[in-house]
Amino acid sequence: MKRRDFIKTGAIGLAAPSAVFGETNIKPNKNDPLILSTWKHGLPANDAAWKSLQNGGNAMDAAEAGARVPEADPSITSVGFGGYPDEEGNVTLDACVMDSKGNAGSVAFIQNIKHPVSVARKVMEDTKHVMLVGEGARQFAVSQGFEEMDLLTVESKKAWEEWKKKRREMTPHETHDTISVLAQDKNGDMAGACTTSGWAYKLHGRVGDSPIIGAGLFVDNEIGCAAATGLGEEVIKTTGSFLVVELMRQGYDPTAACEEALNRVIKRHNGNPDFQIAYIAIRKDGEIGSACIKGSFEYALARGGQNKLHKIKGLL
Ligand code: ASP
Repeated sequence: MKRRDFIKTGAIGLAAPSAVFGETNIKPNKNDPLILSTWKHGLPANDAAWKSLQNGGNAMDAAEAGARVPEADPSITSVGFGGYPDEEGNVTLDACVMDSKGNAGSVAFIQNIKHPVSVARKVMEDTKHVMLVGEGARQFAVSQGFEEMDLLTVESKKAWEEWKKKRREMTPHETHDTISVLAQDKNGDMAGACTTSGWAYKLHGRVGDSPIIGAGLFVDNEIGCAAATGLGEEVIKTTGSFLVVELMRQGYDPTAACEEALNRVIKRHNGNPDFQIAYIAIRKDGEIGSACIKGSFEYALARGGQNKLHKIKGLL
């Protein structure tokens, strides 16, 4: 058996916590809405997304509501408030959304705004554009009533000051934990959201895959949706999330599609890349999949009244 799947029950879980080995999918039920998110902070994100669905929200509402949770949580150092800064001490954030109609919105290199994912949604819904960056994105957010705040916490400042003493280059394997939230609502419509503070202590101005439609996130309501976490530079170079969805279009099941997209990266790095990338994917019929390159990866799946964390092993 190649991979093991450990399950922990989250806050909305109805079932007793259980460990399931060798099973990555709960049998999909066509009419069940579902939320699929990256990492452990996907659990509280899924709770919020689920609540949004219960309150009549659609897939886009749910994905956005989910992504806002880690954005606001200062203990999560890879997303939003409390995210690690760039090498100059600036917290610069990337986020995007995509809905079931193929609309997309994105902000990159935005500073001092707590909820970039909601700014991305505003870009999608209230402008003619897809992407705003940097100071322009911040000004747009302020014009839309988003509050400005210092996103560097005492803890993240301390970590950055510690890092500055040696300026040790963070290995790409250390810098991940973007939250990506994929949602499918009761109508079967799909949407996604992705938000991150990116590579810790990156060069000022660096933008990763997370705000790039087709790289960090892609939704095709006829086929499925996919999202990424991990080394953004490599996700961008392989148009990762778009590739996963296109592979599902060609008939790959969601996990096989994630694996094949990663195999292309692995091949480009002579079979031994020294970094992590993970994908999550939902197919239109509710089948889900995930894969990662190295070590392990956790995704949170909320479906049928349960919210559970699943741990998978890397391909290498
Ligand atoms: N994909 C993100 C980036 O490269 C990193 C992460 O997953 O946290 O910016």
